[in-house]
Amino acid sequence: MQALVLTAPHAFEIGDIPKPAPAENEVLCRVRAIAICGTDAEIVEGSFKGRWPRAYPFTPGHEWSGEVVSAGKVALEYGFVPGTRVAGTSHSGCGYCRMCRTGRYNLCFNYGREDLGHRQYGHYTQGAYADYVVHTIKSVFPIPDDMPFDVAALCDTASIALHSVKRPGIEPGDVFVAVGSGGMGLLTAMCARALGAARTIVVGGGQRLGRAKKLGFATVDYHGADPVAAVRELTGGRGADVAVDSAGTKDSVSQSILMVRKGGRVAFTGIPKEATSVDFQKVVLEEIDLYGVRANRNTMEEVMPLIADGRVPAAKLITHHFPLAKFRDALRVFNERADGALKVIVEP
Ligand SMILES: [Zn+2]
Ligand SMILES: [Zn+2]
Repeated sequence: MQALVLTAPHAFEIGDIPKPAPAENEVLCRVRAIAICGTDAEIVEGSFKGRWPRAYPFTPGHEWSGEVVSAGKVALEYGFVPGTRVAGTSHSGCGYCRMCRTGRYNLCFNYGREDLGHRQYGHYTQGAYADYVVHTIKSVFPIPDDMPFDVAALCDTASIALHSVKRPGIEPGDVFVAVGSGGMGLLTAMCARALGAARTIVVGGGQRLGRAKKLGFATVDYHGADPVAAVRELTGGRGADVAVDSAGTKDSVSQSILMVRKGGRVAFTGIPKEATSVDFQKVVLEEIDLYGVRANRNTMEEVMPLIADGRVPAAKLITHHFPLAKFRDALRVFNERADGALKVIVEP
């Protein structure tokens, strides 16, 4: 089958690799759409060397949708018959450790132990930039009949956005700030609104901020103003109730904390690459709650109906489609944010 094959940092080709076969609790799927994730771009660059991937050659890709073509015995018993349309997600916990048993399988104590059943597809386990992919049935979810494959490929990102706003919690009427105006930032804003935020502010820049405005969010351009001061101004000097940082930069992390009111909640979805300074006096004296967010857990089934009925209008974030053979062009458009690129879909 055709697949994207990384052979070293920056080096990749569309090559021929053997079609995988499903084990008893797995399905083999024909991949129909994969959304390029910021993490994919970093995996291609080699930013997480030795971790994601552990070794080359490697095929990334974790935001995907497709159809079941064959299934193992157990998978069939669970109803994953050929033809089932599904969306995939990256994490599959071992299922037995305390983290898994308490529902926090994204924090599985046996992370990386494929021998114990753990998987993270597209990160260290083979991913979906290929004609076919094998997943355990813990990591694929049936999608509604009328949900297009490209939209279904956004379910994974959207489920992370939902997890990101569920961690700090949204109370009806809250003022919410999404720090970062990329796909994840806009999806957290959509999810916060769906969960009852009364006002949603997106902090970001460039064409993406224009898209945020079109989606009905208040916007703050961090290039033109101090975003902390701007958010305070928009909230009568008090600060927002909840902020979610998806940018993961040195500045965005500290600014997110400074943007919330006394007793505010802040969640962090972007993975910071550099040290940051946090105003811990504020955290202590104003009882600020801080939440780390690692990918998603148990939110695929929750976000799908919200996407299907338009409350999380994820389809509006899709800007480009490319065939898998043109992955190089797709990645360039994604990385350069060419023509307002946001979610770029690759189709094997
Ligand atoms: Zn992703
Ligand atoms: Zn586990």
